[in-house]
Amino acid sequence: MTEKSKGSLLALLDGAHTFRQTEYNGEHPLMARLSRGQDPDVLIIACSDSRVDPALIFGARPGDIFVVRVVANLVPPRSDGDFMAHAVMAAVEYGVKALGVSHVVACGHSHCGGIKAAMDAARGQEPPPFECLGPWVALADGACREVVTEGSGGERTDAETATAAEQRSVLRSLANLRSYAWIQDRVEKGDLALHGWWFDIDTGELWTANSETGVFSVAA
Ligand SMILES: [Zn+2]
Repeated sequence: MTEKSKGSLLALLDGAHTFRQTEYNGEHPLMARLSRGQDPDVLIIACSDSRVDPALIFGARPGDIFVVRVVANLVPPRSDGDFMAHAVMAAVEYGVKALGVSHVVACGHSHCGGIKAAMDAARGQEPPPFECLGPWVALADGACREVVTEGSGGERTDAETATAAEQRSVLRSLANLRSYAWIQDRVEKGDLALHGWWFDIDTGELWTANSETGVFSVAA
């Protein structure tokens, strides 16, 4: 093991020490309240990417957000017996049914490697040589093919094409969430709202999708 590898783990242990001192030694420790239960009102589906930690980006405290992190923040559509879907949807189901969250956010981001792999496949390139990753990012294939077709005229830069694919896949994840009746029912009753967000790593901007048009614009 290299010195860097040892150091990276020690840094986490230091972080755990600081966290315990901060959150467990205060006069009104937050974690003492949270040890009796959690009641987050927002569920965020974010990418596993190390640069887009939802708690950090959104300034959330422990207990504020229920988070699902998967490669490319993809949500599979409903399909009986599909355990790939279950991995994500088990967490979404718990957040929606057991915790009763009011909002589900699918949050994409710039420079997403998962979406890039899906775009490469949509352009006919070889899928990534991974047993599990290739089939997973193929969930974004439909969204990416749409973007490739739209951009065939050459009017988009590579960066704009990547952004379009990342944002389109977020919208597809929202559509896939609605393929589950227990989500669609709550949305129709006004008990649950679905949101599409996209974080720009370069600028720190948060873009949100208009619920009617699906067009993303800067919100924060
Ligand atoms: Zn990503």
